[in-house]
Amino acid sequence: MEKPTVTDQPPPYSATVPPGSPPQPAPNTAYPPPPPGYTPYGPPPPPPATAFVPNYGATNIIITPPIVTVGACPACRVGILEDDFTCLGILCAILFFPLGILCCLALKNRRCSNCGAMFG
Ligand SMILES: [Zn+2]
Repeated sequence: MEKPTVTDQPPPYSATVPPGSPPQPAPNTAYPPPPPGYTPYGPPPPPPATAFVPNYGATNIIITPPIVTVGACPACRVGILEDDFTCLGILCAILFFPLGILCCLALKNRRCSNCGAMFG
């Protein structure tokens, strides 16, 4: 809903300026002298370089050492060594139970589940 407002006179720019007198620039009192003992601008603050951790590298290169986990295959480093009892060990375990179990454990091999490499 429009409400036309007819204004004959624009609003005065400043009430302090009397009409008819040319606008005079204000006296140079924009920056009054500071009171004694007051420094408007203190010493410049130290640059925030102390809080900035310099990055010497463009990218964070994380060098991961070759981690050989326990039980990993030293040959392919992919598979996991699994206990593989030999037939002789199992046979000893059966024939010489219970001492044969110790023989079986002693004769077991560690076989890689990936490449099938046998490790004693
Ligand atoms: Zn392997």
